[in-house]
Amino acid sequence: MEKFKSYTLGQLDKIPQLSGLSEEQIEEIKIVSSIYPFKTNNYVLEKLIDWNNIPDDPIFRLNFPHKEMLLTEDFEQLKQIRATGTDEEIKEVIYNIRMRLNPHPAGQVDLNSAYINDDKLEGIQHKYRDILLFFPSQSQTCHAYCTFCFRWPQFINDLDFKIQSKEIGPLLEYLHENPQISEVLFTGGDPMIMNSRVLDSYIEPLLKVDSIKTIRIGTKALSYWPYKFTTDEDAEGMLNVLAKVTKAGKHLGFMAHFNHPVELEPPVVKEAIDNLIKIGATIRTQSPLLRFINNSPETWTKMWEKQVQLNCIPYYMFLPRDTGAQHYFAETLERAHEIYTEAIRNCTGLASTAKGPVMSMTHGKVEILGVKDDLYTLRYVKHRDDSKTFKVFTAQSISPKPMWIGDLQEIKSEIMNY
Ligand code: SF4
Repeated sequence: MEKFKSYTLGQLDKIPQLSGLSEEQIEEIKIVSSIYPFKTNNYVLEKLIDWNNIPDDPIFRLNFPHKEMLLTEDFEQLKQIRATGTDEEIKEVIYNIRMRLNPHPAGQVDLNSAYINDDKLEGIQHKYRDILLFFPSQSQTCHAYCTFCFRWPQFINDLDFKIQSKEIGPLLEYLHENPQISEVLFTGGDPMIMNSRVLDSYIEPLLKVDSIKTIRIGTKALSYWPYKFTTDEDAEGMLNVLAKVTKAGKHLGFMAHFNHPVELEPPVVKEAIDNLIKIGATIRTQSPLLRFINNSPETWTKMWEKQVQLNCIPYYMFLPRDTGAQHYFAETLERAHEIYTEAIRNCTGLASTAKGPVMSMTHGKVEILGVKDDLYTLRYVKHRDDSKTFKVFTAQSISPKPMWIGDLQEIKSEIMNY
């Protein structure tokens, strides 16, 4: 049985594989990790990262923060204050940098809140008519943290930005008042960090709600800790709890995050996927397109083809959201569209099911359908106002290097709003 061992910032010096890095490289990781959360684990270190390819290895870039994730002036200010400032001064600089990184993009806090009467419900987001997002408090962490994560403020204790709930009662009440909701998505963090007993306490009551037809689980456990579904002490218990969903006649949809084909290679990943499929789960896959990690058509073709071989369904190619280190990870919209198109073109039919490139923004998910010079054809694949879902619209770039929806302006202002 593999034993899970995680390392956070304070334990950086205990990671044996880092002994090959220079002092300067280690210091850079420490500086950037004072802004973004850092966590890795023994599986990522031993099975996924190629330590002969540092610092360019894609999984190293995915998991270890690096200097360019901060603007040069922020990095230098932080370096300076850490060397000469008081604790209070350091805290203040860190806080100010974090605030400039748009910690809550896309109106998550205000626009997606759910209410019963005038009471705001904690840990619940209701953006689209038919699906509710639930953030159990026990899942507001992950087996390791991704450097690009748009939920990075969820993992920082001294930021009062956590979306989380310990209670299932308000969620059930809200579902009874809103029978048009047919899906609940467990999210976080990673809900698969919970143990089977805690997960069961949420799942069991949901199965009694007739209007709920689908339970979705957003997770990166298949990449960062696949033993969760194979040899962990709790693996059998976890599979048993998840199996209750399909036994109750509901759909169990795993939204699995894979960012690079390397994550699909260890044999234990196939075993974990097989075990989930045996209990009736369907596994759909998604990832953002990320510079330095997966920004080539070949990487995506390889990833999607391998996913189909493993009985997963490619679902979304996202673009990095307008928070955190977007400036570092994002391709231009035009390049993103080229990468997506070429990747799909080289896929077999069954591997070309992913929508993309898609921006998940304030009012919905917008897909880029075509680019010609500075003109863009786009479509909402999902809009918070149903009547706009699947509507096509055109927009013009208002930036020399458009990387997000805010860099475009709709040509006839009818559909697009931010
Ligand atoms: S596993 Fe998901 S929620 Fe956790 S850090 Fe990575 S992207 Fe973010």
